[in-house]
Amino acid sequence: MKECWEKAAKTTHDERLSQIYEASKRADDLNALTRGDAVQVFRLRTNHPLLQCSMSKRGWSSTASCRLCGYESESTEHVLFFCPAMRNSRIAGWSRRDRKKVLWDGTPILAEAARLTRVFLQRATNVTHETGDLGIEENWTRLAIDVTHYRGIPYLSVVDCGPGRFAIWRELKNETSFAICKELEQIFCERGPVAEVLMDNGAAFSSAEVNDLLRRWSTSPFFRAAHRASGNGIVERNHRTIKAISERGRVSPMKAVFWYNMSPRSGQKEATIPQRSVHSYSWRHPDVEPHIEPQESRSSFSIGDEVWVKPAAVKCTTQWEKGNVSKINSKNNVEVDGVPRHVLDLRPVVVNPEADDLESHPLPDDEDSAGERRYPQRLRRVPTWVEDYVL
Ligand SMILES: [Zn+2]
Repeated sequence: MKECWEKAAKTTHDERLSQIYEASKRADDLNALTRGDAVQVFRLRTNHPLLQCSMSKRGWSSTASCRLCGYESESTEHVLFFCPAMRNSRIAGWSRRDRKKVLWDGTPILAEAARLTRVFLQRATNVTHETGDLGIEENWTRLAIDVTHYRGIPYLSVVDCGPGRFAIWRELKNETSFAICKELEQIFCERGPVAEVLMDNGAAFSSAEVNDLLRRWSTSPFFRAAHRASGNGIVERNHRTIKAISERGRVSPMKAVFWYNMSPRSGQKEATIPQRSVHSYSWRHPDVEPHIEPQESRSSFSIGDEVWVKPAAVKCTTQWEKGNVSKINSKNNVEVDGVPRHVLDLRPVVVNPEADDLESHPLPDDEDSAGERRYPQRLRRVPTWVEDYVL
């Protein structure tokens, strides 16, 4: 221990930096592998692979001998370099390498070590299967759904298994079957039902509510095998993509789904943009200014006009208020002091020169004019029945 501290104390700053750099390079190599290969390499490095040598130490196997050739120890070294049953599977120039060098070297050698171990385990356990394909040819026919969490908030994630891979994420209040049904029904109502829904064996998905909903929409449920996330690999892969966009762009998952749906999935090929697989109209990039055709505005008003504005709950005796036209929205819609109004609720203020005279010479008060009654100027016809009476 002492030697270790002394050695660490002697290293210079540059050396320490280079050590960190080397470590990060090694992490990059591991990250470049597929998930399965990375797990395999991690098991080999920590000496906990599913080989008899380590299994017998943990009591999971009665013997430590090789299942293929019968050698006394089925260790990592034996499987990678010495097992004669694996001779044909090793690439040229592979045998008799140093185990440490192999397991801490660059990406290609790590991947090769993982491949060899996988081949050995397949042969030893004699369990093989053909890789399935979850994708289908038609869009919006099969949906893969799941519940995932981002920063502690649950989301219902939905991915189309067609070539478009259109994605929808909905924030959930909780993970109950009720909340999932509500969102799923809304999606079906907006976008139409699908033929099949692929989901995991979670309690919420296998509940009676979800089954009822799918039966009402004539959609058949398909549950993936338990403890095999790859059975719903499309949606699991989508979680990683959306969370990575969200984390790197520091945006919400909803915004990340928007960018995912409007970006090409392969290079710059426009045909691989997910939203185009299900929409007949094109989405506008938020940074591009929208182009709106100016409407024909032959409004009878112009900006700055003084108008009478009809108040709410108006009676025939209500005095209309004055306002100024601030904007012309269309020929029928005019903004008066910032509030959009219909032209039928406006009257132009007519400037009458006599009105000025009236203002300067106000009419006499009602009390003064109470003596003389005013009658309309039009002619009134006397009703015919009055002719029979002498008035
Ligand atoms: Zn062997």
